[in-house]
Amino acid sequence: MRALILGGTGEARELASLLTTRGYDVTSSLAGRVRNPKLPVGAVRIGGFGGPAGLAQWLLQHEIDIVIDATHPFAERISASAAQATLVTDVPLIALHRPAWEPGAKDRWISVASFADAARLVAREYHHILLTIGRQHVAEFAGDPDNLYVIRCVEQPSKPLPARHRIILDRGPFQLDDEIRLMKGNQIDALVTKNSGGTMTAAKLDAARHLGVAVVMIERPPLPQQSNIFAATTPEEAWKLIKRL
Ligand code: NAP
Repeated sequence: MRALILGGTGEARELASLLTTRGYDVTSSLAGRVRNPKLPVGAVRIGGFGGPAGLAQWLLQHEIDIVIDATHPFAERISASAAQATLVTDVPLIALHRPAWEPGAKDRWISVASFADAARLVAREYHHILLTIGRQHVAEFAGDPDNLYVIRCVEQPSKPLPARHRIILDRGPFQLDDEIRLMKGNQIDALVTKNSGGTMTAAKLDAARHLGVAVVMIERPPLPQQSNIFAATTPEEAWKLIKRL
């Protein structure tokens, strides 16, 4: 059985080793954005497919029996591409996405639907803002001339940047004490984050709760709904689905 895993996440790497040890012929695919990516076991291909048509062609050429979309919940284009390509080639698709974070009783979260909504809200309501949204959408906050943005990401964010900013280049996992120190040290009054889910970067939410910092939570884009798509939240759940299919 030949499987294509669309990856770039820890779950994708876990599933690649799970399937490989069970004798599957696995190819993992990465976008190629990060300079030194953590590589999964098994075959790896890097770079875009050229949209849904390119991916469909790749699936046929490599006689793929099943596709697992284990990309980050905010990687919207590749998920849409996987949905379209598997529909036209009649290949089952497992959408493996970790559960979203949920607010607890003591959390002060404001849910927004987009980066633009988050940018408008924090520019109006807050002063020292911690941006933990990756590097691709920081430009949406660049129109605010007044407030301070502490931008934490793995690689240098794309320009333009807000007039007043500090950049911290760092990669998780992050610890609660360090997150508290970061927020206190920069007098942060709002944290902006995508609802990525998972444990690697969740300490910032605990720190915000502890300090009473507001959390502007950018909710996930909706996933494509199709009859050939089966949802899983863990690699083990995906594996059970693959066996059944
Ligand atoms: P995106 O906007 O959905 O994808 C943009 C384009 O990049 C896609 O149309 C596709 O090109 C190519 N691409 C994306 N993921 C690919 C993959 N796994 N294999 C081959 N091509 C891929 O994605 P993104 O938000 O830029 O994320 C890129 C990658 O980084 C994803 O694989 C994701 O899992 C990982 N990642 C993303 C985030 C995030 O917050 N967005 C966080 C952590 C990791 P073609 O149309 O040419 O096929």
